[in-house]
Amino acid sequence: MHKRTWSKLIPTKISAFGWQVMQNRIPTKLNLYQRGIVHDNNLMCGLCGDDIEDKNHLFIHCRVAHSVRSKCAKWWRFLTAHPKTCQEDFEQHRLPIKDSSVQAGWDVVWFSTLWSLWLARNRKIFKNQVCEEERIFELVQLRAFSWIKSRTTGYSFNFYEWMLEPLLSLKAKRSLQ
Ligand SMILES: [Zn+2]
Repeated sequence: MHKRTWSKLIPTKISAFGWQVMQNRIPTKLNLYQRGIVHDNNLMCGLCGDDIEDKNHLFIHCRVAHSVRSKCAKWWRFLTAHPKTCQEDFEQHRLPIKDSSVQAGWDVVWFSTLWSLWLARNRKIFKNQVCEEERIFELVQLRAFSWIKSRTTGYSFNFYEWMLEPLLSLKAKRSLQ
């Protein structure tokens, strides 16, 4: 997992979570079962219930994850690849433009997506509260915005502007520095 400029823009807890996802160290149902921590044989995905919950399902192939990721791609107006694994996904998460501020922002969205899917999954499993795909997507936007805003000098855009023109806001903030 390459350290790119994103590392300065997200809380340590979130980069640690991303790293744990890569290392397959998060407590997905399959992981807990394989390690003998739970004996419950309900291994179906906490978000969609359609397939066995491992990290690649939860963050890539799950229909809820797929929907949220498509919304992100649409928001940034980019076509995304179809990765098979979380590692592949992170490696392929490159924009077709060479701009490190914009790329860092797009990477932050990647972490925010993972984190928001994970929290939605936990809420569904532990509190039986369903978080709609559109709401998860809004939380991806909101979390990414609050991390970038609080860690970037001269980022003067508001949430509404970030939602409308994420690239423009990231390009423009650089000229203020
Ligand atoms: Zn699923």
